[in-house]
Amino acid sequence: MSKTYLIVAEHRDGKLRRVALEALRAAADCADAGDEIHAALLGEGLDGLAAELATYPLAQVHAIEGEALRVYNPEAYIRALIPLLESLQPDGLFLGHTAIGRDLAPALAARLSAGQISDVTAIERDGGNTVFVRPLYAGKAIERRAFSAFPRVVTVRPNNLPAAEPCADGGTADVVKRAAAPETDLRTVVREVVRKTAGKIDLTEAKIVVAGGRGVKSAEGFKPLEELAGLLGGAVGASRGACDAGYCDYGLQIGQTGKVVTPEIYIACGISGAIQHLAGMSGSRIIVAINKDPEASIFGIADYGIVGDLFEVVPLLTQAFREALA
Ligand code: FAD
Repeated sequence: MSKTYLIVAEHRDGKLRRVALEALRAAADCADAGDEIHAALLGEGLDGLAAELATYPLAQVHAIEGEALRVYNPEAYIRALIPLLESLQPDGLFLGHTAIGRDLAPALAARLSAGQISDVTAIERDGGNTVFVRPLYAGKAIERRAFSAFPRVVTVRPNNLPAAEPCADGGTADVVKRAAAPETDLRTVVREVVRKTAGKIDLTEAKIVVAGGRGVKSAEGFKPLEELAGLLGGAVGASRGACDAGYCDYGLQIGQTGKVVTPEIYIACGISGAIQHLAGMSGSRIIVAINKDPEASIFGIADYGIVGDLFEVVPLLTQAFREALA
């Protein structure tokens, strides 16, 4: 019997997030011929985003609009999604393993009485079986897990699966507009969201991350890292050591109690490589470590290690990239 899958497509600042297309790719990887994939978009003023999403291989785009969905509020989002879940009865739900996805997925899984597999980095098809791959213990072990029943809820780690591509013919998905019920009785209301990193690249989606640790020694010490990241079109991150020392905002923290990043290149500057930091960055494709201590544990997982003073090495790297990119 054919199956129906639903992705929850995240967007920000009027743009679809790349992880929405990675979630679509995950759903497509799980789908067989004849299965349908639908997308849910939540927010206000979604016409442009819905039209863009309709160019991807989808059966329908459900654009659910309402004032209470203007910014993320779990209660409002869950209430807005319930009628769609009831009418579609999806066999699978796919979300990004983002702050929103991590919050929504278990609540929706409970609603659907579904099993959930989180933080998926690869999907393998083995005959009729679909196996979901996810790292454990800061990437030290890999788990291969399968569902034994439907429905299923899956969250995908950003930057690991390839993003879905638009249909070559421009796409034919219907856009179904749905109005969220007015939320007069929400128990929590988001009054304002103050973006600390306005205009900057999202750390969890950046292809290049330049991260500083306690070795940067001051807020001023982050300047050379910002310059390098800016030149490479990347984002700046930090260890908790740097955040605790007050050199930067906790929004930049990478690790067990911070963000998990999986960029193509991670440049760790003045970071010792504590296990709690590795938990947030060991999935990076290429790791470059700059540390003046040749015994620093970060060199144990680095693909390229530079023993030296970051205040000498980082400007030299920036200069070399500037010349190469000129
Ligand atoms: P340090 O360990 O002090 O290392 C600084 C490094 O900079 C040293 O290796 C030094 O050789 C090098 N250095 C100094 N000067 C220079 C220079 N001029 N040039 C080059 N190198 C230089 N940490 C996280 O990062 N993320 C987390 O999410 C996190 N969660 C935690 C959760 C728990 C429950 C606990 C207990 C700890 C957690 N930590 C986390 C803290 C973690 O254990 C480490 O204390 C922290 O990662 C150390 O940060 P650091 O590497 O910047 O500092």
